[in-house]
Amino acid sequence: MAQATGRAKAAAVVTGGPAGGITARATGDRALRSTTMRIAVLSDIHSNLPALEAVLAAIGDVDAWWHLGDVVGYGPHPDEVVARLRDLGAVGVRGNHDVAALGGPEVEWFNPDARRAIEWTERRMAPETREWLASLPERHETDEVTLVHGSPRDPIWEYVTTNPIARANLAAFSTPYLLHGHTHIPIAWRDDDGHLVALGPSDGSELPLDGRRLLLNPGSVGQPRDGDPRAGALVLDMEERRVTWHRVPYPITAVQADMRAARLPARLAERLSHGL
Ligand code: ZN
Repeated sequence: MAQATGRAKAAAVVTGGPAGGITARATGDRALRSTTMRIAVLSDIHSNLPALEAVLAAIGDVDAWWHLGDVVGYGPHPDEVVARLRDLGAVGVRGNHDVAALGGPEVEWFNPDARRAIEWTERRMAPETREWLASLPERHETDEVTLVHGSPRDPIWEYVTTNPIARANLAAFSTPYLLHGHTHIPIAWRDDDGHLVALGPSDGSELPLDGRRLLLNPGSVGQPRDGDPRAGALVLDMEERRVTWHRVPYPITAVQADMRAARLPARLAERLSHGL
């Protein structure tokens, strides 16, 4: 995929929109600084290695990789996905599927298919995968960006799906920009002088990072739910002061075959074809 170019579209304004814990602070690590960098932001990869590889290839060279949790769950490649992120030096936070795969009580809230996939993941995960997941904080902050899975006021569970929920969360983070996932739907909310505007990005959509506060959701790498089966991600360009959304096709039948071989629930494989 080309980097942001003149062909890039502005995110369309949509009305309404779709439908406390551990904190890591910025350190001197290169991967944790957000100034003068291009950063790929990946969320809800869900053990889907072909989708992750396609996104990495399409986005190409960046200075850092950030993830917003739900690295595992649903899909057949937990060890492979975690190994890839570890090799990249990816920095990120934990999601509800990650904590459930570590044996947390969160699994009680899962639907039967999600629960079966989590129990499969828990049995199959290598010790080093478990260790890596267990090391993820609930929240991560740089000088300009806060990272959570769900929302800043409820990092593991809250779905930011409406203007009132987005507005209520503005008080729960202090950086100009928030990155969050969990809904598997790419969207942005921008605070325009106290008026919160929802923006529906598609492939190539851009927004300026101009100091107006933004809640940014890249969508899902491994299980998109906005009717577009292509993997979703975004790139933060802290030098050009711009965020760009991407959608990337990937070999869906390859991950579906691996899901069948692993005897994961058929409905979880089927939904990938429809992006729902
Ligand atoms: Zn998820």
